[in-house]
Amino acid sequence: MTEKLLSLANLDPWLARLRERGSVYAPGTDQAGEVALREWPQPEPLVLDYKNFREPPKAFFLPRNQTLLYFRDGKTVELNSAVPETFLFGIRPCDARALALLDRVFLDGDQNDPYYARLREKTTVIALACAQAMPSCFCASVGSGPGDGSGADLLAVALESGLLFRAGSGKGEGLLAEAADLLAEATPAAKREAAERIQGVTAQLTPVPTADSALRLRGSYDSPLWGTAGQKCLGCGTCSFLCPTCHCFDITDEPDRRVRTWDCCAYPQFTLHASGHNPRPTPKERWRQRLMHKFRYAVENFGVPFCAGCGRCIRNCPVSMDLRTVLKELGA
Ligand code: SF4
Ligand code: SF4
Repeated sequence: MTEKLLSLANLDPWLARLRERGSVYAPGTDQAGEVALREWPQPEPLVLDYKNFREPPKAFFLPRNQTLLYFRDGKTVELNSAVPETFLFGIRPCDARALALLDRVFLDGDQNDPYYARLREKTTVIALACAQAMPSCFCASVGSGPGDGSGADLLAVALESGLLFRAGSGKGEGLLAEAADLLAEATPAAKREAAERIQGVTAQLTPVPTADSALRLRGSYDSPLWGTAGQKCLGCGTCSFLCPTCHCFDITDEPDRRVRTWDCCAYPQFTLHASGHNPRPTPKERWRQRLMHKFRYAVENFGVPFCAGCGRCIRNCPVSMDLRTVLKELGA
């Protein structure tokens, strides 16, 4: 694994080089005063010590509304399939890990999704190790962590005087090779500082029992806990739309095109049959499905929970639903 150092003075020149090749998005302050992934350059300076973005970068790979094909003269045609090169600098490791999980759904085996594949191939992901954890973060409990580089082409760790880069893919190795004149060798002191910073953030995380979640959830399908936990849910969909790993979608045909749109298992219509029957008629069944999908079915199908531990569903739920509480109670 190649490791290199970029001084803070060379950060803008490096991003400017990437900008010559395509669009660059980096953490900046938006009009609401929140740090978000914004097209670079902006008049405001880059922000490196933010906690995490309110929205994950999922929409870069799975747009909210995506035209799959057009209907023209009785034929189906693909228009605008060329995808511009894009660089995402500074997404947090949990969101990069979520991309590695989405890859399992959209790229593995015979399920290759050309729309996702195209955007993934043309987008270079440069993750930035966390500077601090929030009380709702639990990435280390789902196999990730504040310095996890999975899903990213490069992982950067912010140090006192610059960034330590670790290549995570051939694309990442290539980026480092192209920027050789701006980079220096990673010194033992820089590697030590990076390790200490990541350990410091890891120590801020509260563990959540997820290791045997599939086993526990298998025996809890009829638990009364689903009724008590689920009855609070408003079915607003916030948890799902802000989740970096939720990927359910609907496909609709409009008069001139076929469109793929995000969907959400918290909605009553999600499983409503044409007959009028609904196998998940109340929030209890819908909330159970959300957790079962992430912590049981995904583990059974892919060997990992479909959760990156980003905590967005916990921070943003208007009625304070917390999947950690349910997982803990089921393990009691
Ligand atoms: S954010 Fe909360 S209230 Fe809204 S659908 Fe999710 S669990 Fe239910
Ligand atoms: S389920 Fe919640 S904590 Fe897990 S990845 Fe999705 S939003 Fe983040």
